[in-house]
Amino acid sequence: MRFTPQDEEFRAEVRAWLEANLAGAFAGLRGAGGPGREHERYEERLAWNRHLAAAGWTCLSWPSEFGGRGASLARQVIFHEEYARAGAPARVTIVGEELLGPTLIAFGTPEQKARFLPPIRNVIELWCQGFSEPGAGSDLASVSTRATLDGQGWVITGQKIWTSLAHVADWCFVLARTEPGSTRGQGLSYLLVPMRQPGVTVRPIRQLTGTSEFNEVFFDGARTDAAHVVGAPGDGWRVARATLALERGAAMLGLQVGFRRELRALIEVARHTGAGADPLLRDKLARAWIGLEAVRAYALDTLGGPHDGAEASVLKILWSRWHQALGELAMEVLGAPSMVAGQDEDEWQRLYLFGRAETIYGGSDEIQRNIIATRALGLPRNWTEPRNP
Ligand SMILES: Cc1cc2nc3c(=O)[nH]c(=O)nc-3n(C[C@H](O)[C@H](O)[C@H](O)COP(=O)(O)OP(=O)(O)OC[C@H]3O[C@@H](n4cnc5c(N)ncnc54)[C@H](O)[C@@H]3O)c2cc1C
Repeated sequence: MRFTPQDEEFRAEVRAWLEANLAGAFAGLRGAGGPGREHERYEERLAWNRHLAAAGWTCLSWPSEFGGRGASLARQVIFHEEYARAGAPARVTIVGEELLGPTLIAFGTPEQKARFLPPIRNVIELWCQGFSEPGAGSDLASVSTRATLDGQGWVITGQKIWTSLAHVADWCFVLARTEPGSTRGQGLSYLLVPMRQPGVTVRPIRQLTGTSEFNEVFFDGARTDAAHVVGAPGDGWRVARATLALERGAAMLGLQVGFRRELRALIEVARHTGAGADPLLRDKLARAWIGLEAVRAYALDTLGGPHDGAEASVLKILWSRWHQALGELAMEVLGAPSMVAGQDEDEWQRLYLFGRAETIYGGSDEIQRNIIATRALGLPRNWTEPRNP
């Protein structure tokens, strides 16, 4: 990926806007709400997100007819890089903006686009993703949540789990079985379900970090309009796969700029505490720096378009493993005090603890390696299947 002089002008515009606007009431938000810290200054981050929207800095990739900027991949990367470089707070709208919005643009009816896209774009309605269930995670096609049509619309019954931000979401996109007796990807539908109704119960799950970023969600006769199905009824698997493919992309490059800030901060800690004089820690810090350079180079090289369909999986493994290792390194740099809860080191503890989730969500490492094995290496899908003669 190369940035043109016009792209660099765009970079200067983003940088100047962020500098001018992360000020006043928003000045204290820098760095708020990172991984494992979603609860931090939530209301202020919501207000900041609305401020971004009013200035046209949400939904950059969406076509202009839907309120976006139709930004090229290069410009999306630039925005995310500058956003992370400025230490702007974690956005609260990512699920709607980056997962549901593009899915609706590709598969939604004109009525669905008109109803649901503007409130996402303007940060009026927040979304969560209701895919995983206790018996269907990596094997998502096993979902057993059911939905049936009665005279007034869809009636949904079942349980979802690990549903990020369900406790603040207004709506959930739910993968449900709508053809009784169907199996695997057949007979599933992609439903848009309002969260604030009597048939929906959200139960937070306390995570390693002590906070609750995700939840259990119970649907007990929950209802939604008959028209709130994306794609044809029974064709939800195709739509859900498109959503899953969106989970990786330009935002990753912003992520790595955030990682760079964390690494720099850790190097500062090593300098001040004297830990940086330890030859083994110096070696590990240098390796971390090299590793991050490699992640960025790979991301820039492959984001422009898939070659064999395995690049996103390689990148997911590279960045999640790198970030986990950074958390472990932080614990080493901080030494014994890092083991005590409730100390100043909490931010590093959270990074270390939340890192465990990064090799699970968005497809676990094993699943990514299965994808690499089949798509990039041409190995059989299942080792028990007979190989081609
Ligand atoms: C922080 C976080 C946020 C999340 N947010 C959401 C959300 O908002 N919405 C949502 O729907 N889901 C969400 N998830 C769920 C996530 O998508 C699943 O956890 C993930 O897909 C793994 O599914 P599982 O937890 O059921 O584990 P399982 O699928 O039961 O896997 C257990 C272990 O077996 C391995 N395994 C499974 N199948 C295979 C195989 N075929 N080959 C080799 N190894 C295998 C896995 O790699 C893993 O190590 C979130 C998860 C986390 C950690």
